[in-house]
Amino acid sequence: MTSTNELSLSETYGAFIDNEFRPVAGQTFPAKHAGTGETVAQLARCGRTEIDAAVQAAAKAAPAWRARSAEERAELLLKLAAVIEADTDRLARIDSIDIGRRLFETTLDHRFAISQYRYFAAAAITHEGFGRAIPNGYLVAKREPYGVCGLIIPWNVPAIMAAFKIAPAVAAGNTVVLKPDENASLSTMELCKHIARIFPPGVINVVPGFGEEAGAALTAHPGVAKLAFTGSSEVGRIISQAGAERLVPVSLELGGKSPNIVFPDIEDIDAVVDNAMFATMYCNGQSCLAGTRLFVHDAIYDDFMERLVAGMRRVKVGPALATDTIMSSLVSAEQGERVLKYIDIGISEGARLMVGGKRVSVEGNEAGYFIEPTVFEATNSMRIAQEEIFGPVLSVMRWSDYDQMIAEANGVRYGLAAGLYTSNLRNAWETADRLQAGSVWINQYFNLASGSPFGGFKESGIGSEYCHETLNMYTHLKAITVQTKVMEPWFAPKP
Ligand code: ADP
Repeated sequence: MTSTNELSLSETYGAFIDNEFRPVAGQTFPAKHAGTGETVAQLARCGRTEIDAAVQAAAKAAPAWRARSAEERAELLLKLAAVIEADTDRLARIDSIDIGRRLFETTLDHRFAISQYRYFAAAAITHEGFGRAIPNGYLVAKREPYGVCGLIIPWNVPAIMAAFKIAPAVAAGNTVVLKPDENASLSTMELCKHIARIFPPGVINVVPGFGEEAGAALTAHPGVAKLAFTGSSEVGRIISQAGAERLVPVSLELGGKSPNIVFPDIEDIDAVVDNAMFATMYCNGQSCLAGTRLFVHDAIYDDFMERLVAGMRRVKVGPALATDTIMSSLVSAEQGERVLKYIDIGISEGARLMVGGKRVSVEGNEAGYFIEPTVFEATNSMRIAQEEIFGPVLSVMRWSDYDQMIAEANGVRYGLAAGLYTSNLRNAWETADRLQAGSVWINQYFNLASGSPFGGFKESGIGSEYCHETLNMYTHLKAITVQTKVMEPWFAPKP
């Protein structure tokens, strides 16, 4: 097991402003090992003063950063990608300790993050406005950065979230103030050490702290020209209101309760069972994208469920850093209690518990909330099928009427993602068309490739990340029209 001092963590992290960690002026809060509960570092509990200093630093850095060519900005993003690549092992361990997810997953997170910095380096260079000839002149529509962006991210995949926000914002020529989640700040604070060696001071600033303090101060700051948020739909609404108050643009990536649909013509039941398990249990179920509502066709239901339950029983629940672990602990006791409460709700509303449902004790990690992969046979109207649980809980529904199944698949307030499995291309395409979701994955869940727009329909969000279009969210269009000469007097010509 990795001891935390092998990870070169600092004892205390102040706010990262102008490429240095500022001494902590006020209170701190602990970053805890998700499995053991041990405190591994202290983080500055930033408030209005630190946010103000960070926004001012970002505002000061903005004109020079914006004036750099896209090629120069891209080069620095590529450098950052390279140092994260070289440091992935350590950063992934830090995340595993901080949030409890197994090392295999947190390593993939960092690879994913690296791909984002690279993708947006390339995208920056190829991000173009447009132009066209007009009578006696020319129209140029050019894209300009907003200035200072306020970025707020959640705890489930911190490396990916930091990259999702920082990469497009700075690629587009903005400077940023990022607030990581209070449950998952460590790898982002460590990322700052790399940032300090690569980027000019003030371009990327990071302020740890709590949502209602640091987060609220950031969203309300008059120097912030654009807000981007990933997290719950409840907080998304608050961020949106803060944006409305000051009339600044807000992009939101919010919750999900995604359907995953199994048709009776699938060729390999075991493969689909495995994919459905992965869809819902990856990240220990703490993913906004998770396919948490599984619709299985009546004709194969019994066979499918038998294999699904057997598969869930094979899942090894263990410590985050053990190599044979498939699922590990949830991020915090609070989240663990929330998930257990939902399991109780499922039972009390009459859902049939097929497997799991209990907290598991893992030796040496007794403080961690390890919860068995849990499967309910449910109906779509139940709370466990309607509300985002953010834990390893799957609701399965049997279906036979196609139109009714589609209505139920769409019958939630969210619309982030959807999966479907069929051998029939026409069926796949027509079903994808009917699903109200920002991403539809056919025959493989979580099929995210760099450049595929990622964003939610309905209450799952506003805007698309992860793609070229994202740069448009971080820039506004300016139209410049040129006439070759001033027109002859015509408005009030001399007599
Ligand atoms: P999750 O459900 O994934 O924990 P939350 O929506 O609660 O997500 O939090 C996501 C991020 O939003 C975190 O960084 C959190 O600190 C921040 N946050 C929470 N409340 C507020 C708020 N009122 N204003 C700004 N940020 C907030």
